Amino acid sequence: MNNEISGEARKDIFETGIHEECGIFGIYSNESNVAEIIFYGLQALQHRGQESAGIAVSDGENILVYKDLGLVSSVFNHQNLAPLLGKIGIGHSRYSTKGRNAWKNSQPLFRTFRGQSFAVAHNGNLINTESLRAGQLKKGVKFETSTDTEIFASLIETSQKETIEEAIEEAISKVKGSYSILILTKDKIIGLRDPNGFRPMALGRKGDSYIIASETCALDIIDAVYIREIDPGEFLTIDKNGLRSQMIFPVDRKSMCIFELIYFARPDSYLFKKNMYEVRHRMGQELANESGSGADLVISVPDSGTPAAIGYSSASKIPYVEGFIKNRYIGRTFIQPSPEIREIGVKLKLNPLKDIIKNKRLVVVDDSIVRGNTSKQIVKMLYNAGAKEIHMRISSPPLVYPCFYGIDMAARTEFIANHRTVEEIRRFLGVESLAYLSIDGLVKAIGEPKDNFCFACFNGDYPVDVSEIIEYDKYSLESEIKKQSVEIS
Ligand code: AMP
Repeated sequence: MNNEISGEARKDIFETGIHEECGIFGIYSNESNVAEIIFYGLQALQHRGQESAGIAVSDGENILVYKDLGLVSSVFNHQNLAPLLGKIGIGHSRYSTKGRNAWKNSQPLFRTFRGQSFAVAHNGNLINTESLRAGQLKKGVKFETSTDTEIFASLIETSQKETIEEAIEEAISKVKGSYSILILTKDKIIGLRDPNGFRPMALGRKGDSYIIASETCALDIIDAVYIREIDPGEFLTIDKNGLRSQMIFPVDRKSMCIFELIYFARPDSYLFKKNMYEVRHRMGQELANESGSGADLVISVPDSGTPAAIGYSSASKIPYVEGFIKNRYIGRTFIQPSPEIREIGVKLKLNPLKDIIKNKRLVVVDDSIVRGNTSKQIVKMLYNAGAKEIHMRISSPPLVYPCFYGIDMAARTEFIANHRTVEEIRRFLGVESLAYLSIDGLVKAIGEPKDNFCFACFNGDYPVDVSEIIEYDKYSLESEIKKQSVEIS
C-alpha cells in the first residue's frame, strides 16, 4: 500500500514527535527466580530505550511490578530486585520523546482480566489508537497514560471473551501498526509479533527456560541459545506444558524496519540469521563501490558509523583509523533543548585525534543524517582539528519521511533531506563531497529480498495505512500551536 504523504500534511507531521523505541525481555523458567536475569537482559537492550525500565514477575499467583524512570542500572539494585520473586517474568526499557517521559507511561503495564492480573511490555507503535481510544472512552474506560500500550491492555481488560488468549486475539484483531509484545499472566508468558514483523523478536533457550527478547544480544548475555525469530503474525505461548505457537494472522507483506539493520539493532545482534556488524560492513563496501572518493584516511562517526567505515575502507583500500575518541559515559545527545547545549553535547561525546587527522583528506562515514545538526558539529570539529578535506559518506539513503512504526527519528523538527537536495546538504555541512547509499545498494548489502523490509522513511511507501495517525498528528499540532499562541499572548 502506498500512502505517500505530500505537502502540508507532511510538513505538519514532521514537526510532531510521538514515537517510541523500546527493548523487551521475557523468561519462563522452571528452576530459579528470574528478576536478576531480566535485569541483565534489559541491560543488553539498553540501546533500545534509556528513559525508563521495569520488571514484572509472577510467583505463580501474584504479579509484582517494579519500574521507574532512568537507565536499567540506575532503576534496579539488590534491594528492589530482591522482593521480585518469581520464575517467570518480563521486562521493558523505554525511550519516549520529550513531554511523554512520565513514570506512569513506563512499562510493564499492569491490568486485570476477569479478576486475574496481567502485565504488558510493548515495543512498537500502534497507529489507530485514536479511534480505539474513542471507542473505549465511550464504553466508560478510563486511561491513566498517553501510551498506545494502555489502549491495547484496555482492549484485553474489557473483553467479554472467556480466556485471556481469546481476549488477546480479539485485541490484536483491532490494532494496527507495529508491535512486538510480551504479556505475563500468573502462569504463562505470551509473545506476539505483528503480521508485518516491523520490530525484531527472538526466541532463545537456556536449559529448561525459554526466553523471548527484542534482540539476540540479550540472549548472549545470559548464555542462552538462539532458537529462531518469532515469526511475523505469530502468537507464542509458554507455560508449564512448554511452548505452543499459532499463526493467527495471514502475513500479506513482511516489512521489517530497515532502520533496525542500519542503526538501531546492536551490531552483535542477528536479524534474518545475519550479523548486524557484517551487514553494516557490507553497507560500507557498497557505499565505497557506489561513491568512492580519493582520500588519505577513512574515519567513522563512532559508534554507529564504525562497521560501515571499516567496510568502506576494505572496499576502497583507503586505510581506516580512529579519528575520534568517544566518551562512553555521556548519555544520549540526540534531543537537546538548545543549539548551544547540543554543541557541547557533541563535544562531550566526541573529541578528534588531532595529530592523526591533521592535513589529511578524510572520508567520514556515518550511518544516517537526521537533522544534520550533529553532522555539522562533527565536520566543524574535524576542520578545527586540521582536516584538509572532508568527504562525508552515509551508509543509508536520505531520510525523508517520518516513521510511524516505532523509531523516534526527529522530534519537532524536520529531516534535513526533506527540504534540501544532497548538494544543499553538502553546502550546509560545509564538506568537499557528500554521498548516500542507494536503496538498491542497501538491499544488496543485506542480501535479502527487498520486499521483506519497510523503507517508508526513505520512500514514503507505508506498508500499513497511516492516514489515521496523520490526521491525529495534524490535529494535535494545531491544538499545540493554538495553545502556544495563547501562552505567548
Ligand atoms: P544529525 O547530524 O543531527 O542528523 O545526527 C546524525 C546522527 O544521529 C547519526 O550519527 C545517527 O547515527 C544518529 N541517529 C540516527 N537516528 C537516530 C535516532 N533515532 N536516535 C538517536 N540518534 C539517531
